[in-house]
Amino acid sequence: MEFKEFNLHPQVAAGVTAAGYTTPTPIQAQAIPTVMEGRDVMGLAQTGTGKTAAFALPILHRLAQGERGRVRALIIAPTRELAEQINDSFVTLGRQTRLRSVTVYGGVNVNPQIQKLKAGAEIVVACPGRLLDHMAQGTIDLSHLEVLVLDEADQMFDMGFLPDLRRILKQLPPKRQTLLFSATMPIDIRVLAQEILREPVTVQVGNVAPPVTVTHALYPVEQHLKTPLLLELLRHTDTESVLIFTRTKHRAKRLGEQLEKAGYKAASLQGNLSQNRRQAALDGFRDGTFQILVATDIAARGIDVSQVSHVINYDIPDTAEAYIHRIGRTGRAARSGDAFTMVTSEDGAMVRTIERKLNTSLERRTMAGFDYSVPAPKKDTEFARPPRQPMPSRRPAEAKKGGARQGASQQPGSAKPAEGRRPQQQGAKLHPARTAGAGGQRSSQQRRQPR
Ligand code: AMP
Repeated sequence: MEFKEFNLHPQVAAGVTAAGYTTPTPIQAQAIPTVMEGRDVMGLAQTGTGKTAAFALPILHRLAQGERGRVRALIIAPTRELAEQINDSFVTLGRQTRLRSVTVYGGVNVNPQIQKLKAGAEIVVACPGRLLDHMAQGTIDLSHLEVLVLDEADQMFDMGFLPDLRRILKQLPPKRQTLLFSATMPIDIRVLAQEILREPVTVQVGNVAPPVTVTHALYPVEQHLKTPLLLELLRHTDTESVLIFTRTKHRAKRLGEQLEKAGYKAASLQGNLSQNRRQAALDGFRDGTFQILVATDIAARGIDVSQVSHVINYDIPDTAEAYIHRIGRTGRAARSGDAFTMVTSEDGAMVRTIERKLNTSLERRTMAGFDYSVPAPKKDTEFARPPRQPMPSRRPAEAKKGGARQGASQQPGSAKPAEGRRPQQQGAKLHPARTAGAGGQRSSQQRRQPR
């Protein structure tokens, strides 16, 4: 299939060429004609499938014809980063249309948003909290809305945005086209979809299976040896850019600092950062200034970093869905990537859940030359597993003044900050590999050669 078969408006077709897309991805092949027909769509797709262009292209096609200066398309997304990313896609794909788009989210000055809205925009990409503020203040007019997109609906639900969404939906013109995208379908999203979609067409791509181009491996290790093993892995793996996930923002921050000390260009992305610093970390990771980005799930979800060669789960995620989301960051758009997960003896049940979900058993690997027998230092809880945190259930702080939304209710882990180094863990290339630690792993060679 080729893009020209869609008969997109010539100015939009030019955007496809400018973006360098030649063949539509499966979700695009399914969704674009359906959206162009004006049908409501329920899209089951995770990031990395090309879903943004799947809704952006037909929306641009529609908006390129007709009235200007009024908000005709509204895209609601859970995080500021995702909102910026979606907006970037509209800008790239729609450059020739001269349609105007505005991002609307909290944590930044409201005035530039008001000015841009006043100047006239056809497309608004918003996070729910700040959007509600604009609606309450009368600084946005949505009475001419034609298309509504809810992107990453399950994430919005996880982040406690459902009540805000319902408030927004009540105030939107009922006669409109609605597209709902979600990687998973929890019952609340299913109910919401039934309420707001009219005779929807379901398009579904890879919501359970991760991208086929990703190689998965588990690295059984004891909690206190995770950082030395990570350093060893990085030393012996041919990586381009690496996204590392931790369970808490505290661990993300600390691990980022440890990697920097070890000589890596690393940044961490977590909810405590100001919006400017978050954006700087993201931009730096995208442009290669930082080779490594350490992030929590909430901080990183939905972020499109097409060049990620490796995803490393320093902490195993809490759900199989989160695992799929995390590793969806690598192997995107037909590139290949590796996903490494460090697992401790406590993670056995979650490993089984993930294996069941993926319908495959994951390879266990042992790092050759790494001493798995180094005992845990006494009285040092630096590497203690933090308690599992519930997902935020209150309205996140993106609309709050200066609020750092992602992970709003995350608490720092119970682990104490690092106090002094344990020299035996630095370097860690002490003895030949032994099959030890979390148990059950079988020895295997590193797939890639040392650099
Ligand atoms: P998304 O799932 O929307 O986050 O897109 C994932 C990545 O795939 C982004 O970097 C897009 O620019 C890229 N992409 C989307 N559609 C195509 C396409 N048809 N061909 C190649 N790359 C694409």
